[in-house]
Amino acid sequence: MSSPPGLYVHVPFCRTKCPYCGFFSTTDQGGIASWLEAVALETRAQAEVLTGFDTLYLGGGSPSSLSSGTLLALLSVLRDTLIFADQVEATIEVNPGDLGPERAAWLRSLELNRVSVGVQSFFDDELALIGRRHDAQLARAAIEDLRAAGFADLGIDLIAGLPGQSWSKRLASVERALELEPDHLSCYDLTLEAGTPLAAAVQRGELSLPDDDTLARGAEAVAELLFRRGYEHYEVSNYARRKAHRSRHNQKYWRHVPYLGLGPSAHSFDGADRWWNAASVATYGDRLGRGASPIQERETLSDEQLRIERLGLGFRTLDGVALADLEPADRSSTLLNQLVEQGLVTIDDGRVKPTRDGLRVADGLARAFL
Ligand code: SF4
Repeated sequence: MSSPPGLYVHVPFCRTKCPYCGFFSTTDQGGIASWLEAVALETRAQAEVLTGFDTLYLGGGSPSSLSSGTLLALLSVLRDTLIFADQVEATIEVNPGDLGPERAAWLRSLELNRVSVGVQSFFDDELALIGRRHDAQLARAAIEDLRAAGFADLGIDLIAGLPGQSWSKRLASVERALELEPDHLSCYDLTLEAGTPLAAAVQRGELSLPDDDTLARGAEAVAELLFRRGYEHYEVSNYARRKAHRSRHNQKYWRHVPYLGLGPSAHSFDGADRWWNAASVATYGDRLGRGASPIQERETLSDEQLRIERLGLGFRTLDGVALADLEPADRSSTLLNQLVEQGLVTIDDGRVKPTRDGLRVADGLARAFL
């Protein structure tokens, strides 16, 4: 039986722009009303493309920065127009600077059952360096407020590899996160996005990034700590307190399950075609307003392209890849046997699955078979 699709809504508004940010987002709050109207139009136009969603993910941008009225209106449009499954994992990305006890309780009343809190670091000097509008204490308070409000599925997002960050400071941020007992932890490495102020500062030599050894040592120390604390390392950058706390929504991306993306710059995938919307609030709204499609581009993936993607994504997860996705000659090759002997993969139930050690070299595993 095929898995139900996921629904993503891109909320492109932020109160301030972080200097490392490569996501499509704007600080111009003047476009919120027209964005909401356009999302409603797109939702109605796409209502039959995919149905039976069992995940809803409000991402951005900063969805938690929307006014109560806007957020309520958005959820009403989605829930009144689209068909959802019975048990929906409904996630909202939260910026700690947007919260307080009342706001946290109100978010919980919206039948959102999962929060992903963008903390990024538990050190104030690092938060200042990357231009976050909250400090570590505010982040702790936000998480406590969300817990008190009844969120039983709470994730903390951290960024690793910040300029000047030692491996031990990266580990210390995770230790501080663990004091708050998150159900999920994402620890993504910083990606320097061309054109951002942070990338320019690195290029000018004003800031320097950790070297590869520091990054590898930090990643290993974090993985070891979280393993000892009982977290499941289920994707290269993601850890869950229990299997039930894995991000159901993100697993759809990694497993090639179809998803619908609404909002400017949002991507969609139906199993063979991938398409994405214009990355501009004005263009997105204009097109929908005159009855045109907001899609900027569409591609049809060949079977071979899909197979290559499955290898690239699959080796980054504990689920691994189907043996059938390897070239026939690779399925019983010396290479595969060596990887098993080295303890980097196991073969189980028709799948090649990376071990904990294998996840550390996940991209290399994929390259070995491509
Ligand atoms: S809050 Fe997130 S989306 Fe907004 S500018 Fe910062 S990193 Fe980008």
